[in-house]
Amino acid sequence: MTPDLGDLYQEVILDHNRQPRNFGALPGANRRAEGFNPLCGDRVTVQLEMQDGVVQDIRFQGSGCAISKASASMMTESLKGRTREHAEEMFREFHRLLTGVAGAPDAAALGKLVVFGGVREFPVRVKCATLAWHTLRSALENAPDIATTE
Ligand code: ZN
Repeated sequence: MTPDLGDLYQEVILDHNRQPRNFGALPGANRRAEGFNPLCGDRVTVQLEMQDGVVQDIRFQGSGCAISKASASMMTESLKGRTREHAEEMFREFHRLLTGVAGAPDAAALGKLVVFGGVREFPVRVKCATLAWHTLRSALENAPDIATTE
């Protein structure tokens, strides 16, 4: 990892932690899942509005460390307008980026998310960074009709 990427990593994490994007409830959601990382105490709820296999809208809520929050925030930014297949591909590449399992990640597919490569230096934080993505995957696997209070 180059020092520049390390600086960028810090900057991006701090920025998204301070001002999380797409944070809050999503009234039109038809997919939802909750995730918990007991190692750190991070909790996240991901809500999706899927239409014809495309992520129309996505928001998250929860509380946790800066990395978990920044990761969820950047995930929502990266996935809006993407197909389900594309979202799953990004998850695979992101997982590869953080764990090094199954070879080198496709940087082009990851886009801005490559800054999370810095997390690899802190193995205990990998679960913080992947929590939102694991939660996303269970949300995508959910049946479309979720219970709502509306
Ligand atoms: Zn954490």
